[in-house]
Amino acid sequence: MTKTITTLSGSIGAGLSCACPRCGQGKLFQGFLTPRPRCEVCGLDYGFADSGDGPAVFIMFLVGFIVVGAALVTEILYRPPYWVHAALWLPLILIVTLGPLRPMKGLMIALQYHHQAAESRFDGTDRP
Ligand SMILES: [Zn+2]
Repeated sequence: MTKTITTLSGSIGAGLSCACPRCGQGKLFQGFLTPRPRCEVCGLDYGFADSGDGPAVFIMFLVGFIVVGAALVTEILYRPPYWVHAALWLPLILIVTLGPLRPMKGLMIALQYHHQAAESRFDGTDRP
């Protein structure tokens, strides 16, 4: 019998480590961002997992704030040629967007599972 994560901090930890939101042991992804069909440890069906554009939106807001702010400060203080901006910010954008995308998607799926978030249904089946 595998253990079940019941705490919010446990769910956050499992999500950030891209592990199964129920047992915290099975892998969540089979590619870079594609969820597996189910957990190979506890058998949880990942069919519920639909984080949509959530991870990308959070990362775009955060990275946009950081990179645009850093580019503005660099331009105001040093006035470098444009190729320096391209050399600095293009690799940084790739690193700070693609790096946290997978853990952020894992986190959102784990929180979706923890809070049992799902689309609303109008046929009365979601009510007790
Ligand atoms: Zn599992």
